[in-house]
Amino acid sequence: MKYYDKLVFELSKPGRCGFSLPEHVVEGYAPELPERVRRTEAPALPEVSEVDVVRHYTNLSQMNFGVDTGFYPLGSCTMKYNPKIDEEMAALPAFQEVHPLQDPATMQGTLRVCYETERALAALTGMKHFTFAPCAGAHGELTGLMVMRRYHALRGDTARTKVIVPDSAHGTNPASAAVCGLEVVVVKSRPDGLVDVDALRPLLGPDIAGMMMTNPNTLGLFEREIGEIAALVHACGGLMYYDGANMNPLLGVARPGDMGFDVMHLNLHKSFSTPHGGGGPGSGPVGVREGLEELLPRPRIVRREDGHFDLLSEPSEASAGRVSAFLGNLGVVLRAYAYIRLLGREHVGEVGRYATLSANYIKEALKDCYKLPIPGLCKHEFVFDGLINDGAREGVPGATTLDVAKRLLDFGFHAPTIYFPLLFHQAIMIEPTETESLETLDAFIAVMRQIAEEAARDPQLLHDAPHTAPIGRPDETLAARQPVLRYAKG
Ligand SMILES: *Cc1c(COP(=O)(O)O)cnc(C)c1O
Repeated sequence: MKYYDKLVFELSKPGRCGFSLPEHVVEGYAPELPERVRRTEAPALPEVSEVDVVRHYTNLSQMNFGVDTGFYPLGSCTMKYNPKIDEEMAALPAFQEVHPLQDPATMQGTLRVCYETERALAALTGMKHFTFAPCAGAHGELTGLMVMRRYHALRGDTARTKVIVPDSAHGTNPASAAVCGLEVVVVKSRPDGLVDVDALRPLLGPDIAGMMMTNPNTLGLFEREIGEIAALVHACGGLMYYDGANMNPLLGVARPGDMGFDVMHLNLHKSFSTPHGGGGPGSGPVGVREGLEELLPRPRIVRREDGHFDLLSEPSEASAGRVSAFLGNLGVVLRAYAYIRLLGREHVGEVGRYATLSANYIKEALKDCYKLPIPGLCKHEFVFDGLINDGAREGVPGATTLDVAKRLLDFGFHAPTIYFPLLFHQAIMIEPTETESLETLDAFIAVMRQIAEEAARDPQLLHDAPHTAPIGRPDETLAARQPVLRYAKG
């Protein structure tokens, strides 16, 4: 253990001090707190010098892994690098200092940015209108499903209480449906990883509110029968919901609106330049096709004839209801705007293409060491099903997907998504994204090959990994359910 791995409390020395405050901040003003709210003993704060505090926090920050420190091939979630200029744009005082209750006439620039972002998202997805109200992907799903329910309710069709979700779907899809009061009906995938259209047909009927899908699906495969699927769902009276949390493979290449989807959400905090993870802030704008726009939550920004922007804040009669305050997480929308402008119409199509190329490059380079359950071209991500040779022998169990993921940490790479989707027992889901250089992809491939060799030779080496991280194999359930975040003195 390094000296500075110590907790700041352990570095504490009574009387040591790293700050000084003036006696009274305001001359002649010395407020006396009433006796009953004053503490009787001094708080147990660490007593350290300024340099110790600086080192403490700097070292803590170094124990964290982020896309700014290394490659992060996390499937389904697009942990891609976000250009720093987008942060700078969002931090401009003109945007930071607006107040949501300000007169719209005094925040025309901000409204214009929101309006133009909405138009850009509509153009990229083939939807008619978007709302920025939802503050996360799952929040967007809930909002979109509320729109779907409202659509049926307005037509007096109250029997539609079920929503169809493929078995490969992101876990938030069935969860959002349940929160929205809809019953989830699972449609299974075929062995080739695509939705089984023959299994879908008998599920369709007058009780189906709609179907949720993502395309390319969570296995990174393009649902080729999407046209037929959308036609079947529409014919039974349902709506098609597109989970666009991961828009990376489609950006500038294909549009959910053209595939027959009616309602969708995007995760600006994945594909559009806000870091994803750590619990926010996020933005999950919901878009709808023409004819459904009145069902969206307000406010909506409208452009007047004279070029000025207005906020329609009163909820419309048809609206599915409010899901957040004001315009949602404005800072995230600003980053998305800067990002879209940065790429421009000319370059936005490179996102999907390079994301796809990178994923296929890694897949092909590793498929002789790792089981590839669904061969062929993938889109932005793909799934391995563990090692081909896991090294299992007399008395020593073979190396698992968890072991591979832990061993990767020793080489400075973040682990991919593991054990998801549930279709494969040893799933390793890799999404390299479009921003990584060929050298980084090659370095990752070399390490994955080395780990496969190690597994074949000495699986115990992998069982004991990571060898270099401060914490190796915590009880993950316990760590998530009962995290110990406080220092107990003594
Ligand atoms: C990340 C993700 C979501 C959920 O988004 P959150 O912002 O984490 O709620 C939903 N669907 C897919 C496919 C995703 O990748």
